[in-house]
Amino acid sequence: GLFGEAYRRRHEITVTGDEVPPPLTSFEMTGFPSEILKEVLNAGFSAPTPIQAQSWPIALQSRDIVAVAKTGSGKTLGYLIPGFIHLKRCCKDPRLGPTVLVLSPTRELATQIQVEAVKFGKSSRFSCTCLYGGAPKGPQLKELERGADIVVATPGRLNDILEMRRVSLSQVSYLVLDEADRMLDMGFEPQIRKIVKEVPARRQTLMYTATWPKEVRKIAADLLVNPVQVNIGNVD
Ligand code: ADP
Ligand code: MG
Repeated sequence: GLFGEAYRRRHEITVTGDEVPPPLTSFEMTGFPSEILKEVLNAGFSAPTPIQAQSWPIALQSRDIVAVAKTGSGKTLGYLIPGFIHLKRCCKDPRLGPTVLVLSPTRELATQIQVEAVKFGKSSRFSCTCLYGGAPKGPQLKELERGADIVVATPGRLNDILEMRRVSLSQVSYLVLDEADRMLDMGFEPQIRKIVKEVPARRQTLMYTATWPKEVRKIAADLLVNPVQVNIGNVD
């Protein structure tokens, strides 16, 4: 409606796609389950950030999304909370493999995502495992064996573990490519493509990036289906 339009203008949000839902500008509007709202309010947040306000209703419609927004804009919860709600709808046995898979460029970023997933998902009792290089595989494999609803991984380490046949991605139905531009800059494109081949085609795919160069456009065109694009601020 008109209010949604004014909010988009005020926060420099531009959207492309069919029938894009209006932004959810307050937490009350989101209709999130109470155990998730509780964690958000506990964190002291007063309102969704613009990328959250606009990407949540799209992600909750199970649509693919490309979100272009600079660092510090709250992208992590932008994909994690709809991921939690997706998990609640699926209720698969995590020992069969993760339902939510988040790819992240570095160990440090992957660890931060896991911390947010644990903090905001703890009341919902989701399990989350983090896989990254530069650390022994043993403990990561042990955690995987116990079962994880959510796996956050760097492409290199996940690919190694896939080649060892120690994880199955056959249950993944919510795939996030976080910091896609950085992953491509770091040369992870071949690993990303190999990983995505192991994920069923019937899935929701979300791509978050700070910039929108042609390499990122290309991989988005290859991996996402009829995505809605959300830009915050100027995107070239
Ligand atoms: P990005 O991935 O876009 O760089 P993050 O998801 O890491 O940004 O979020 C940046 C910081 O903002 C984090 O400390 C996060 O906890 C905080 N944050 C997330 N959502 C909100 C919100 N709605 N209100 C206030 N702070 C938030
Ligand atoms: Mg981020």
